Amino acid sequence: MTMTFEHTTSSQRVLFGAGKAAANLAAEVQRLEATRVMAIASESERHLADRVCRDTDIAVWFDDVVQHVPVETAEAARAAAAAHDVDLLVCLGGGSTTGLAKAVALTTGIPIVAVPTTYAGSEATNVWGLTEARTKTTGVDDRVLPATVIYDATLTVSLPVGLSVASGLNGLAHCVDSLWAPKADPINQALALEGARALALALPVVAADPTGLAGREQALYGCYLAAVAFASAGSGLHHKICHVLGGTFDLPHASTHATVLPHVLALNAPAVPELAGRLAAALGRPAADAEEPAAAAVAALGRLYETLSAPSRLADLGFAEADIPEAAARVLKAAPAANPVPVTEADVTALLTDALTGAPPVPAAR
Ligand code: NAD
Repeated sequence: MTMTFEHTTSSQRVLFGAGKAAANLAAEVQRLEATRVMAIASESERHLADRVCRDTDIAVWFDDVVQHVPVETAEAARAAAAAHDVDLLVCLGGGSTTGLAKAVALTTGIPIVAVPTTYAGSEATNVWGLTEARTKTTGVDDRVLPATVIYDATLTVSLPVGLSVASGLNGLAHCVDSLWAPKADPINQALALEGARALALALPVVAADPTGLAGREQALYGCYLAAVAFASAGSGLHHKICHVLGGTFDLPHASTHATVLPHVLALNAPAVPELAGRLAAALGRPAADAEEPAAAAVAALGRLYETLSAPSRLADLGFAEADIPEAAARVLKAAPAANPVPVTEADVTALLTDALTGAPPVPAAR
């Protein structure tokens, strides 16, 4: 079989090491010759940020972090950066915090050093997102890709188990959606499957031993690969659905991804059996003899969800049956033409209905 594809590898420096974030940040600020640093961290992340910035001069702190980056918040952060003549953005926190730094970088070109404390993976992508008038807009721009990412598993031990599970499954969603996203290719599929393997091993360890560093490090490694794969492959159907649910209905990002993922897998996997088989193996449950690969992949994910007591009902997150028609219409407009199966209104309505109520995902008959 021949292989023809085009793949771009983004340039980014990654510093990985438990307990090393403060030293790595101080060295990185020096290497980048920055003298006016703006640190972005929400109030609840400030205790972690203070630890990481202890050896770094901070010109200005910005703590008004809001999920999905409302444009007004982005404008306020840009104004603070301009007022303090900032030459480096350091964001310390989850994807919302990274997203705010990206909004500043988008219009100013100021470089970012990201210190992530969740598994959202935004730090490894050149994707930005802004929300205005109930609509989340995303775009791709290399100016928002952090120059450096500093991973330190000790910063994640305070992430509660429920959030760790949801955030880790957000990472896993990056892996799964990368298998069939518009720019999927063999390289990002390989990264995605290795990311899925690492996350499937790590998350049960994190859930059982949240303060242990072994599971936390594996989870950070997996979520980084997941995000690199996602950045390269682009947004597939899963991400389009979750952007609508987050931007229009203000649902919490990570739990929404976790809840929707099994249903998108059940819809798409039967049309990509080879990838479904590799995913099932990566998740630790290869297809048995004569078992359909799609059924094996859905079962493997289901087993992981059961172990993790993962979120499974959009109804628990603030979504209602009455929201389905508007959500379905918005998803249909955004659905990628290259999805493995054509996306119909009936499919999206059924998918959202199942995700609303927590109905078990069943691979679509093909
Ligand atoms: P988040 O950043 O909103 O964090 C969730 C909560 O966890 C917050 O209250 C935060 O203060 C808290 N928290 C973070 N780290 C903690 C820690 N170590 N200990 C205790 N509490 C901690 O949630 P998220 O899921 O990380 O990020 C979601 C946002 O990121 C969304 O807006 C999403 O669109 C965006 N995102 C963007 C990309 C991208 O490529 N652009 C990728 C993934 C996510």
